[in-house]
This record gives sequence, structure tokens and C-alpha cells, in this order.
Amino acid sequence: MQHPRYIVITGASSGIGLACAQRLAEKGHHLLLGARRIDRLQNFCATHPTCQFGYLDVTDRNSIHAFVKEQEVWLKQANGLINSAGLALGTEPLQTSLEEDLITMVDANVKGLFSVTRALLPFLLGHGKGGDIINIGSIAGVFPYRTGSVYGATKAAVQVFTHALRMDLGGTGIRVSVVEPGKVDTEFSLVRFHGDAARAQKAYEGYRPLQADDIAATVDFMLSQPPHVTIQQVLITATDQVSATDVVPVSL
Ligand code: NAP
Repeated sequence: MQHPRYIVITGASSGIGLACAQRLAEKGHHLLLGARRIDRLQNFCATHPTCQFGYLDVTDRNSIHAFVKEQEVWLKQANGLINSAGLALGTEPLQTSLEEDLITMVDANVKGLFSVTRALLPFLLGHGKGGDIINIGSIAGVFPYRTGSVYGATKAAVQVFTHALRMDLGGTGIRVSVVEPGKVDTEFSLVRFHGDAARAQKAYEGYRPLQADDIAATVDFMLSQPPHVTIQQVLITATDQVSATDVVPVSL
């Protein structure tokens, strides 16, 4: 078995973050899980003894600092961070979009991810043994699409942040990477459509989307590389997804 790691996962209550937690816990890694729906994290940790959790709202600086303070002892061993907390809100062009949605996306996907990373860096650097930071970006940050201006821009920010942070951390042994998924069947669309379950369901109909565990498998593969190997950036889509928005179901 791989040496057990100590990995923080944000957005661990659902989707990609939860799938990463499941996969990495099964391998015996020690995990610290953060999200706002702590009932979900509590249920997960009840059946996964190497895991613990804390309330974390990445849009709230006080919450980030409280999370760090509460978990200080555990964090001294931290050698991994998976930033999965994030969201898209709305599918309107900017001119008819809700300002509140814009602010929330920027607060969570950009300011939240940056601030969580900054707050955890002293711990990741403290033991001097290297580690991993894996940010979940999006295909939307690579290939812009109509109605995706703000969401795409937040994910483009995640990509640039990733590559520049790698430079800041040069020589420390901390690998910094970004995973940029296409359509993944999670609660992402339910959130994006403000809780409209029927519409969210339709987003994954008529083709075979990625599942959250497909992304978790990629993250696990990246973490499992020997220390001299960094997979800097991964763009991953369903085979049926041929652009940021188009799907053409495989007909084999
Ligand atoms: P999801 O199932 O809706 O999960 C989103 C996670 O983010 C939840 O655990 C949620 O936890 C957390 N989160 C949202 N706002 C938060 C906040 N303010 N503070 C802390 N946690 C917060 O969606 P997902 O697909 O797994 O999304 C995970 C990441 O993948 C996001 O960054 C998303 O942009 C990216 N992504 C998704 C897709 C896709 O098609 N699904 C494609 C490309 C990229 P709580 O609500 O409990 O706080």
C-alpha cells in the first residue's frame, strides 16, 4: 500500500469532493473534510475511521480561519489539499444574470479557493516534506462558452493561480495541479439551476456523462505518482462531449 497521506478536501459533501474522499479513504489515507453541510460529512466519517471533518464555508474568511484553528493539530501533518468546493449559478447571458450569482461564484471559486490555499500553506510547508495541491477547475475556464462568462472566468482564474502558485512553491516539493472536467453527473446542475431538479436531470440525459468517481480516479492517479513527477494539468471530458457544451453520443 502507498504511504498514508494527510489530505484536506474542500467541497467533500457532494460530487467530485465526496468521490475523492471515498476513493482516498478506501486506500487508507487520512482525510480532513470541509463543507457547509456537515451532516453529510458526519455520516461519511462515521463509517470511515481515517476521516474527520469540520464546517467550512469558503466564502467566509472567518469560517476558513475557524476551520484552520480547530484543526490545527491534524493540519500539522497535512501533505495534500484538494480544492473541490465551487459552483456555477445560472445560465443567463451576463446582461440578464443575477448579480448575486456572479458574486457567489467569484467568492467561492476564486476568493474561496485562493484563501483556503493560502491559509493551509503554512501547514503544507511546515514539515518540509512536500505534498500536493490539486485544484478542480473546469473546461469552462479553457474553452469559453455563451452564458459562461463569469463561471468560465472564475475557472480560468483557478488555472492561472495553479500555474503561478507552482512557481511560488518551486523547490518545496509541493506539486500544484489543476483538473479541468467537462460535464460530470453530480449535484452541480441542481445548484446551477437553483434547485430545479427536472432541469438538472435533463443536463445529463441522452449521452453518457462523466461520473464523479472518474475524476476521483484521475486525482488518485495524480497523487500516486512518484515525487519527481507532476501532472500539472488535466482536461477530462466524457467521450460523448466534444466541446465545452456540445455532446455527440457515441453510437458504437
Ligand atoms: P456538487 O456535487 O454540487 O459539489 C459541490 C461541492 O462544493 C459541495 O460539496 C458543496 O458543499 C461545496 N461548496 C459549494 N459552495 C461552498 C462553500 N461556500 N463553502 C464550502 N463548500 C462549498 O458539484 P461538483 O460537480 O462535485 O463540483 C465540484 C467542483 O467541480 C466545483 O468546483 C465545480 O465548479 C467543478 N466542476 C464540476 C463540473 C460538473 O459538471 N459537475 C464540471 C467542471 C468542474 P456544501 O454545499 O455542503 O458546502
